[in-house]
Amino acid sequence: MQKEGYSAYLVGGCVRDLLLGREPKDFDVVTNADPEEIKKVFRNCRLIGRRFRLAHVHFGREVIEVATFRGAAESSNDEKQVLNNEGRLLRDNVYGTIEEDVWRRDFTVNALYYNIKDFSVVDYVNGMADHKAAQLKLIGDPETRFREDPVRMIRAVRFAVKLGFSIDVKCEQAMHKVADLLSSIPSARLYDEAIKLFLSGYGLQTFEMLRHYGLFKELFPATEHSLAVEDDGFPRQLLIKALENSDNRIADGKTVTAYFLFAAFLWEPVQIRAADKIVRGVPEYIAYQDAANEVISQQVKSTALPRHITMAMREVWTLQSKFNSRYGSKPSRLITHPRFRAGYDFLVLRAETGGADKELAEWWGKYQEANENDQRKMTQPPRKAAGGKSTRKRGYRPRVKKTSPGNEA
Ligand code: ATP
Ligand code: MG
Repeated sequence: MQKEGYSAYLVGGCVRDLLLGREPKDFDVVTNADPEEIKKVFRNCRLIGRRFRLAHVHFGREVIEVATFRGAAESSNDEKQVLNNEGRLLRDNVYGTIEEDVWRRDFTVNALYYNIKDFSVVDYVNGMADHKAAQLKLIGDPETRFREDPVRMIRAVRFAVKLGFSIDVKCEQAMHKVADLLSSIPSARLYDEAIKLFLSGYGLQTFEMLRHYGLFKELFPATEHSLAVEDDGFPRQLLIKALENSDNRIADGKTVTAYFLFAAFLWEPVQIRAADKIVRGVPEYIAYQDAANEVISQQVKSTALPRHITMAMREVWTLQSKFNSRYGSKPSRLITHPRFRAGYDFLVLRAETGGADKELAEWWGKYQEANENDQRKMTQPPRKAAGGKSTRKRGYRPRVKKTSPGNEA
């Protein structure tokens, strides 16, 4: 960009992270060139976005986002900037200069511009000092800025945890005050944010901090409710263990799945609803199915969990009752279920936190590891002590039949 005579800077997270000696997740560039001009500079460039055009410049597998400076949010009389009656920014789509661009960024540490021409950092908002002090401070009046875009509250938590920075007191006060404005954010955007929050490797800390600021209840209202209702330490433990496990997995470079975590978040709400139905005489199986449906359809109003995620969550839940059948042919079929591993991990989690039989979880652990012969032995029903007839001779290979009697645990 600079070779072509434009001014261009690295900005945002990459500058912030480089100053910490960390490897940035991605690189964002801002320039005074407009999108059409950017496109002319790079061969592998695609323009995206309808409201605010951005350029994506492809270098092999890397994508560098190149944006034109945005204009300042001067006043709400400005027809380019539209606020709703809660103060939320509905439109802000005007190009500007770097001096204007800086004011529409969120935190001072996210508003540092790195100029590769002379290796200087351009800092209009005292971002360097805040960076040194490890402080997250919003640019301008915190409440106004949170009202403009309530997602900034979640971003504050995400960055505080990820960077180990503290949130400035004025921002904290504003967060407590306007936390419930998050409910006005489209659920699809909140889902994306939830993924970033909980699959970042610091899920547990993030969860604690979101609760502290009253933000968690906006993302997972039923979960928050279940934490308040049950206070014997056990429902909260499942969720905490799930977060802890996935943080550990990420630290070990293993993969984590969103559905497993969200299944843990919503497990207790499903239990509570199902129990309520069972008391009112609904058959158990139907009670659980209905409870799952209701909890999910409530949840997607806050965070739009995609269908493949909710399907997988249901499968993990449904597997839980199936783990009770350990005799006969059922185990050998269950083990081939595509979600068996996730379901089993979930069972272990429940057992660890007092929600399932430890011995049952251990049994399934052994069963998976066992060879075919031992598996067959493990699934033979226990012989009755007296008078009970064993239908199977020693060494006899039981045929797998759909309706073998007495194979329930
Ligand atoms: P990371 O990518 O590591 O999560 P980041 O700071 O790069 O952190 P992005 O979401 O990639 O975060 O945004 C890039 C930059 O755009 C931010 O640093 C900030 O300056 C600006 N920005 C992003 N979202 C907002 C927002 N909701 N309000 C104001 N400025 C924002
Ligand atoms: Mg970024």
